[in-house]
Amino acid sequence: VPDVKLIREHADLFARNCVDRNYAAYQDYPHRIKELYAETKTLEEALLNPRRKIKELEKEIGRVASSRVSSQELNGEGKQQALAALRQEAQRLKKGSQETLLRKESLENEIQKLALSLPNLTSREAPVGDDPRVVGYINYNPENSSTWLEQKQPYRSHVEIGTTLELLDFTSSATSTGWGWYFLTNEGALLEQALIQYSMDVALKRGWKAVAPPSIVYSYIQEACGYQPRDQNNEQQIWHIEQSEKDKAKPQRSLAGTAEIPLAAMYAGRDIDESLLPLKFVGTSRCYRAEAGARGVDTKGLYRVHEFTKVELFGWSNNPRSDESDPLFVNCVPLNDLFDELLQIQVEILTALNLPCRILEMPTNDLGASATRKRDIEALFPSRLRAIESSGSAENKGYDLETGWGEVTSASICTDYQSRRLGTRIRNNQDQKSRYPLTVNGTAVAVPRVLAAILENGWDEERQVVVIPESLRQWMGGMETIGRK
Ligand code: AMP
Repeated sequence: VPDVKLIREHADLFARNCVDRNYAAYQDYPHRIKELYAETKTLEEALLNPRRKIKELEKEIGRVASSRVSSQELNGEGKQQALAALRQEAQRLKKGSQETLLRKESLENEIQKLALSLPNLTSREAPVGDDPRVVGYINYNPENSSTWLEQKQPYRSHVEIGTTLELLDFTSSATSTGWGWYFLTNEGALLEQALIQYSMDVALKRGWKAVAPPSIVYSYIQEACGYQPRDQNNEQQIWHIEQSEKDKAKPQRSLAGTAEIPLAAMYAGRDIDESLLPLKFVGTSRCYRAEAGARGVDTKGLYRVHEFTKVELFGWSNNPRSDESDPLFVNCVPLNDLFDELLQIQVEILTALNLPCRILEMPTNDLGASATRKRDIEALFPSRLRAIESSGSAENKGYDLETGWGEVTSASICTDYQSRRLGTRIRNNQDQKSRYPLTVNGTAVAVPRVLAAILENGWDEERQVVVIPESLRQWMGGMETIGRK
């Protein structure tokens, strides 16, 4: 259940939040909720009088029914008439109340629907608008960007490297499934396993619990986590499973876009004992993305695919700010240790994979529905570098470094947005108040993009090999490089 009281009490803030987060079409909802709530109150009041009257009538009916028929009233006819009149009046009032009650319920449903579709409130950390804020670098010094650009020449793409070294196969997938799919082969397939094992190992060492979740989930769970079947541009995001005639009455299922969904669902409708918090899971799964209309420049290769393996971190944390001091959560995020730990894991992994990266505090337009704050990490992909048109002949063209960055991880803190919608509460035997835990989620490794970045950044032109990051070698039988077969 969303916190409707909070929305009513801060309707202006919620409306502005919609605009900031690219949900402008919903900006009237908070005030509409206020209006509808006022209507329910009027209806509630309108119910008081008839309810009191009905009670009185019922008493009266009881009294008349149990009274003895006096000798003047033949066969108790007068009594029967009096009872019938009283009952008729009670019936009329009940019918009227029933109608008012139904109207009130329908308004309450409408309020819930509107409240559920609103995005989460936004942390003060998130820059308003479209532009992220760069907050740090990994394996990369921005002052030496021209050296990096020079050293990486020629800029080979992972598609070229991967197909030449027989690590990627886009031909077999065209036969099996269609364009946009891929096979990983030879060391390409081994690299995937090494990335899974290495990143799981980093998380396990920090006490995260391993989970292998299902890839198919109820669609309503996906929506409760903040994923809509279609995005704001009405592009399809989620693939639904077709239901047979006999299953039509059962809830719709869909392919999970990320393990975040089944992991979040593990405690849907359940309480978590406070002593267990923070509760931390690391899950590996296949992720399915319709990505309708989104592929564009990323059509070739592994950058944007429909199915991929991802190691995902998901956790519930205590909610130190669920007291009255900060009901809007805007200050809670810098204090959240679990989010910090998740970010540290991401940095540790990308540092050990030798990938040049930058860390971004994501702007409001990029937060989606559930995150109050999000940090993405982008790696430099030599193949994504675009030549600067104005810089002369083809040979000595300069390259725009900005175009080389591509997202490899994402980390979000969703305050109580998901736990409220999923009905996950904190159980504490001392205080009986319902409290909802914060949820955080983030990528440990999304295999295809990281694999692509390793091929492009680890490529040694002189030796014509890919150098395998040291951290992965123990998971690849000690192999140091990948060369021609
Ligand atoms: P998300 O769950 O959308 O925040 O994505 C988490 C990570 O998965 C991103 O940072 C990317 O590295 C990766 N990713 C997302 N979508 C795709 C895709 N269509 N193809 C390949 N990798 C993806």
